[in-house]
Amino acid sequence: AADKFLCGLVGAGIQQSLTPAMQEEEARQQGLRLHYQLIDLDRTPGSLAQLPMLLEAARTIGFDGLNVTFPCKQAVVPLLDELSAPAREMGAVNTVVLHDGRLVGHNTDGSGWAWGLRRALPGADLGRVVLLGAGGAGCAIADALCRMGVGELRIVDADAARAQALAQALLDRFGPRAVALADAAQALHGATGLVHATPTGMAKLPGLAIPASLLRPSMWVSEIVYFPIETDLLRTARALGCRVMDGGAMAVGQAVGAFELFTGRQADAARVERHFRSL
Ligand code: NAD
Repeated sequence: AADKFLCGLVGAGIQQSLTPAMQEEEARQQGLRLHYQLIDLDRTPGSLAQLPMLLEAARTIGFDGLNVTFPCKQAVVPLLDELSAPAREMGAVNTVVLHDGRLVGHNTDGSGWAWGLRRALPGADLGRVVLLGAGGAGCAIADALCRMGVGELRIVDADAARAQALAQALLDRFGPRAVALADAAQALHGATGLVHATPTGMAKLPGLAIPASLLRPSMWVSEIVYFPIETDLLRTARALGCRVMDGGAMAVGQAVGAFELFTGRQADAARVERHFRSL
């Protein structure tokens, strides 16, 4: 089996990413050599238009795997030779495995979030879950929730058409369990859990996406923003007594899934998480 790997991340504005550290350290712990290269479109003239060229270059150079992030997760799809079933159904890829010159797309965002939920919030009630934000990450989480057997998924997005489109796509794939709602108060009424998947709470966008008064101590709250790790939403929910999961759990979960696809070896998820939290 191979013990040397060349991997990378393609996206814009990725200089702060903790993924290189997670991938390289887990490889080192397993006695593997793995180099993880940042390929930042903000530093590439032409940006997104360069994506086909970058994939061709990765194939030529002999990369084993690539992670793909904003703004490439959808744009990369038509450039690949094959897709996993979830990636095809979501129309979004965050992990590309290169093997024998073929490019195969996967998506570990949803499965990574699900890993984080099981780890941070075991036994979380999936009866009535609100998903706030139907963008790239929200779509992957919605897919994971449906696979996990969510009872009712209530989707809210500032862009109502996005929430509608996601609910419709889920209806086609999983039957009637998702609804798009315009009003966060209505959506959170009687909810068992909340997944926050908008950029609100990031260092450059502080605050809450919903009024704090809509939270109830009986709800679990999953945050996916992880710069900073402790967002206003998490602080507020924790103070109220909610069980919470921070954005680090998903970041670790997606990296663990990608490591396994890149190397063919299982990652020690607890070790990856300890390392992530020490960074
Ligand atoms: P995106 O831009 O694709 O989607 C964000 C969605 O939120 C959009 O549909 C937008 O209309 C909606 N939105 C924005 N503000 C809102 C508000 N106040 N109320 C309701 N809806 C609102 O972004 P994305 O790629 O899905 O990422 C979202 C966030 O998740 C980012 O901050 C990113 O840092 C984080 N993220 C974390 C992980 C992780 O591993 N933890 C992975 C991916 C993304």
